[in-house]
Amino acid sequence: MTIGRNEACPCGSGLKYKKCCLGKNATRSVLHTLLLAFGGVILLVCIVLVIKSIRDYEPSSGSKRIWSEEHQHWHQAQ
Ligand SMILES: [Zn+2]
Ligand SMILES: [Zn+2]
Repeated sequence: MTIGRNEACPCGSGLKYKKCCLGKNATRSVLHTLLLAFGGVILLVCIVLVIKSIRDYEPSSGSKRIWSEEHQHWHQAQ
């Protein structure tokens, strides 16, 4: 069931729905959606950055290390 914009607001304020809770609900839901989307994007970026930093991680040169596929970590070269 949908409420017409010019009907009395169901909250009982006596105002028309468009002048009362329609705007409130819309604003709240838009903010909520934006916040959720923003949070999701931030989380995604963080995860991608962490994965990227792990994958790109190479020990600084100075001591030679060899990547071990078997152990999935770096071995110190003798
Ligand atoms: Zn209302
Ligand atoms: Zn190892």
